[in-house]
Amino acid sequence: MVRLEDIQSFFRGWVAANEPMVRYTSMRVGGAADFYLEPADKDDMVALVKFLDANAVPWMMVGRGSNMLVSDEGIRGAVINAESAISNVSLEGGIVTAEAGVRLNRFVDFCIQHELAGVEMLAGIPGTVGGAVVMNAGAHGGEISDHLVDIEVLRNGSIQWIDKAAAKFSYRRSGLEHDAVLSARFKLTKGNKEKLAHQRRELILKRNQTQPLELPNSGSMFKNPPNTFAAKLIEQAGLKGKRVGRAEISEKHANFIVNLGDAKAADVVRLLELARRTVYQNTGLMLELEVKLVGFSDDVKRKFA
Ligand SMILES: Cc1cc2nc3c(=O)[nH]c(=O)nc-3n(C[C@H](O)[C@H](O)[C@H](O)COP(=O)(O)OP(=O)(O)OC[C@H]3O[C@@H](n4cnc5c(N)ncnc54)[C@H](O)[C@@H]3O)c2cc1C
Repeated sequence: MVRLEDIQSFFRGWVAANEPMVRYTSMRVGGAADFYLEPADKDDMVALVKFLDANAVPWMMVGRGSNMLVSDEGIRGAVINAESAISNVSLEGGIVTAEAGVRLNRFVDFCIQHELAGVEMLAGIPGTVGGAVVMNAGAHGGEISDHLVDIEVLRNGSIQWIDKAAAKFSYRRSGLEHDAVLSARFKLTKGNKEKLAHQRRELILKRNQTQPLELPNSGSMFKNPPNTFAAKLIEQAGLKGKRVGRAEISEKHANFIVNLGDAKAADVVRLLELARRTVYQNTGLMLELEVKLVGFSDDVKRKFA
């Protein structure tokens, strides 16, 4: 069993044992991770991952925790947050390179400032570039993978550049889920700064009007089935406002579950099961989770397979 001191003997970043994940997820639920680590820089991160692999400690990356639901039992192994280690964004030779820890809003702003179009639809999504690439985040018909060239990953202990085609992007998924994404390169098109800034303002305004941003949440819980919207199906099932414990299917947007304060992950899971079952009974459509379940037993994960 790896001890905190073993990690501290070489690790230059910040490490905590038994760290509550409520602090690092936008839904603000979930138990503690065995280890929570913020590497000092990229070298520190590579050394850390090699050490964890060598000692058979499971690890995962976290960005802003805005697309994950962590179980009440927490996470066995290590959770790595790259925000302080790798968060530069730069433009060279017409290519924007954004490191994994860059927040999406900063990335969008950088592109707009440089009159580059193609990622403005991501404005208002509260994640990092790393999380967005792995999730293939998108909105308003566009996805982050649209203008991606390639992705720098830590895979099997070595740093590699993966072509977009090899990353196997699909709707809110990628083939990068077992890697640590370090950075991504984008080739964007020429845009007009004022128009792009206006578009961004409008999109953020729309989000404020339609999403329950005043309460902790994880964004859309389910993917939209082809040709329809999960929110519409859940609303038609009469589930808006339905509560389990301190979790509620939002009155404002039925594909959001909000934490009314001290909700448990188990409450959220029960609402997810209810929504999925009721929509299936009503329409024959089985909703697929968009949010990532982290730290749950295989039994719980199987329910949503
Ligand atoms: C209010 C709200 C609105 C939202 N709106 C949208 C929307 O319009 N469109 C949309 O697509 N999503 C939306 N989301 C969901 C979420 O913000 C996005 O999926 C976002 O891209 C996740 O980024 P993150 O950094 O928070 O990732 P996290 O939630 O921290 O992680 C998500 C997954 O990515 C992995 N991951 C994170 N960083 C890395 C890395 N560096 N390397 C490897 N794996 C990594 C994690 O292990 C996890 O599996 C919304 C969420 C909220 C709360």
